[in-house]
Amino acid sequence: MNAYQIPLGDLTELDRIALDKLAGRQDDMLARTISWSKINTGSWNADGLNAFAPMLAKAFAETDAVVELIPTALIEKVDAKGEMQGFQSGPMFRAVARPDAPNQIVMTGHYDTVFPKGTFTEVTDLGEGRWNGPGLTDMKGGICVMLEALKAFEAGPLKDQVGYTVVLSPDEETGNHASNDMIMAAAREAHIGLTFEPCMEDGSFSGARKGSAVWDIIFQGRSAHAGREPEKGRSALMAAADFALRIEALTDQREGTTFNIGSIDGGDAVNVVPALCVVRIGARAPDGASADWAQAQVDAALSEVLKRDGISAHTHGGFYRPPKPRNAAQNRLFDDVAKTAKALGLTLQFKDTGGVCEGNNVFAAGTPNIDTLGVRGGRIHSAEEFLIAESLSERAGLATLILHRIAEGRIDVKAIKSLMKT
Ligand SMILES: [Zn+2]
Repeated sequence: MNAYQIPLGDLTELDRIALDKLAGRQDDMLARTISWSKINTGSWNADGLNAFAPMLAKAFAETDAVVELIPTALIEKVDAKGEMQGFQSGPMFRAVARPDAPNQIVMTGHYDTVFPKGTFTEVTDLGEGRWNGPGLTDMKGGICVMLEALKAFEAGPLKDQVGYTVVLSPDEETGNHASNDMIMAAAREAHIGLTFEPCMEDGSFSGARKGSAVWDIIFQGRSAHAGREPEKGRSALMAAADFALRIEALTDQREGTTFNIGSIDGGDAVNVVPALCVVRIGARAPDGASADWAQAQVDAALSEVLKRDGISAHTHGGFYRPPKPRNAAQNRLFDDVAKTAKALGLTLQFKDTGGVCEGNNVFAAGTPNIDTLGVRGGRIHSAEEFLIAESLSERAGLATLILHRIAEGRIDVKAIKSLMKT
């Protein structure tokens, strides 16, 4: 029986050799993940990001890939005064191997964390194989899983069948504003995407993901003394409040689409009509039509508010993570990966979520993907973030088996990608 006839859920001899090797890598994987966690790479800590990126480059030099650190464009933020501020993030990490191989994969992840410098630094052994530390699970452990899977795969005889581009971003937790173009460019060239965000605490994977939008809207009116000549004033704050109420009224108008007024900054002394107000709103939408609807509703609410005398507005933002609904391509890939996981005795479930990640962007580039191939753990984005250590070698095993099956043609990535068009 050749590889093509072996069910996806059965191990081959090559699988066994790789899994044995990975089991022996467990302690090294944990040590590396812990050492990476100890370096603060909060999304706004440029020094930390710049110090960490070369460590990634050194680690990935153990693969066949050509590694580059590419400077990113400034990230523009609207501050509370409505002014644009630029932030220079760390570099984009890119590693490319065998770009002419018949099967091409984009592998993505991020090396930033949500923890600002100095807020959460200790790595603690919680016992029973659990470790607490910043970014252990989201997602330095996931980067480690990706790296070990590539090394295990490249140690075998099938590597010429699969080429890959790894992109690791410095700004995923703030929306990939500096790295999205590079992620999209790499994703377009690939048949499928593998992203190493943590899976859910119970080991299940993300299925469909909603899309996510953020808008910063800067309202401008006219300042005046509120006691002496209030009639000359045009309150930007009242315009913002009007807008916020219109947005709030949209919730529940379309199933699965939600809005949130995140903040309103404006006003100062009570005897001054406020001339400036910045409103930040977020939205989530389950599919492309809902995202278009949400954008249209925001535009319509704004144009109503702009009928107020003396009020103008600037809008920044939109759907920075387009929805990633289930479709034929996603379902086929989920199915093949679930069958592959069976070979490891894992029963994978795919659960739909309102959470978003780079997998949304890879999908928007036209490339089907699985985005929770990283470690098991929980409480991410909190000081209780923990990693279940055994999942390092376990998930590296799963990713290696996926690579084997792609190389053997048992997971037909070209056929899966072609389903995106159906
Ligand atoms: Zn993450």
